[in-house]
Amino acid sequence: MTDTIPTEFEVLDERFAMIGGDDRIEILHTGTRWAEGPVYFPAGRFLVWSDIPNERMLRWDEMTGAVGPFRVPSGYVNGNTLDREGRLISCEQGNRRVTRTEHDGSITVIADRWEGKRLNSPNDAVVRSDGSIWFTDPPYGIISNYEGEVAEQEIDGCHVYRVDPVSGEVRVVADDFVRPNGLAFSPDERLLYVADTRAGHVRVFEVHDDKLSAGRVFATGGPHEKYDGLRLDDTGRLWAAAGKGLLCYDPDGTLIGRLKLPEFTANLVFGGRKRNRLFIAASSSLYSLMTNVTGARPVWATPSGTGGSPAR
Ligand code: MG
Repeated sequence: MTDTIPTEFEVLDERFAMIGGDDRIEILHTGTRWAEGPVYFPAGRFLVWSDIPNERMLRWDEMTGAVGPFRVPSGYVNGNTLDREGRLISCEQGNRRVTRTEHDGSITVIADRWEGKRLNSPNDAVVRSDGSIWFTDPPYGIISNYEGEVAEQEIDGCHVYRVDPVSGEVRVVADDFVRPNGLAFSPDERLLYVADTRAGHVRVFEVHDDKLSAGRVFATGGPHEKYDGLRLDDTGRLWAAAGKGLLCYDPDGTLIGRLKLPEFTANLVFGGRKRNRLFIAASSSLYSLMTNVTGARPVWATPSGTGGSPAR
């Protein structure tokens, strides 16, 4: 039987009061050093996530509950996501690159350099419905051997990048971050949220095709709330991994509640058949609970119908 812990929602605003769900949080797996990068595969009904210092990726099967290795060694993969075709996009901190795992299992390098210089160590990525891949590049994977390989930083700065879906060009879209980390688009893809872990805030930008507006601070965390992974639900609320648990923000920027967890929390993803199951990667464990909330529509099912049924 799966171990559980009591669900602890902290309601800070009445808008969070409706966000209920299971009164127990399932512990789907324990035994990672540092769980990160959860990504749910609807077609296979399994979840893959990273265990960064152990340089491995694990796979949890929704049908059986079994957990086993997915990729070892992983190149210190951190964040993961899926593209429009359901292919895995991974940020390989140790290999200092963003890759795509093709349907045949081969690995394609999406980005490893900018202006001829090696990337620092890509941390997290997200795909837009036009096929562009946006990622953050702090230096965590090159400043110690714990979560990567010690190496010299070649790029003067820690930027947010966009990879063009047609040309493959890697371009900087924001160059004024200290430690850019988790990132996510609003459901209509007009906004991009990006966490800056060192600066202690989340910024939001308007997206203009392949460019970003100047951006503004959307949320500022407390001293023990270092922002990491971000996801949005289908109403546009922002869910941020920070400290021991998740913070939930209304689109107007109000912190409306928390989901408390016993461990430092790195990232989350909405999954399950209805995208109403939260999967949370937090230090030693992978946690899960069903909620009243539905995750934002994934990139292969955007309003334009990309990859969906033909219009009638
Ligand atoms: Mg991260």
